Amino acid sequence: MNRIKRIGLVAHDNRKKDLIEWVEWNYLILIHHHLICTGTTGKLIEEAIQQKLHVDEAERFSVRKLKSGPLGGDQQLGALIAGGEIDFLIFLWDPMQPQPHDVDVKALLRIAVLYNIPTACNRSTADFMISSSLMNEVYQPVLKDYADYIDRHLDQVYTSTL
Ligand code: PGA
Repeated sequence: MNRIKRIGLVAHDNRKKDLIEWVEWNYLILIHHHLICTGTTGKLIEEAIQQKLHVDEAERFSVRKLKSGPLGGDQQLGALIAGGEIDFLIFLWDPMQPQPHDVDVKALLRIAVLYNIPTACNRSTADFMISSSLMNEVYQPVLKDYADYIDRHLDQVYTSTL
């Protein structure tokens, strides 16, 4: 990942206040990176940061807004991670309430681990991540080599079903 990071941001409804506070605290850092968010989270983050900026800067500032999480936004973020288009994920999921898209939440967290993306699920971790000296450096996450898996022989599977 380059010095300018592509940061995914998502918060469930009960965690949106936390995330917006965190964004307001860190907006001077965040405006130098690309922000990619699920729909509602993105709208709130964009408004919160624009309110901190001068009018001309605010007009130029925007975040990329995907679909709302339950409508496929979490899956879009996962696809961007798999495609190497997200470097860093802040995902404040709600530990107290089941979500209609729980399976998508699990899938997003799984793909973030699979691709070794730095991931914060609470504010403290987000604080440590954004304060890291690696924020200002080029960094290449180590990826496990899945060549054996990709090239695996499936003859046995096919013959056993004939
Ligand atoms: P939202 O989606 O930002 O559109 O509310 C977040 C989520 O619930 O995954």
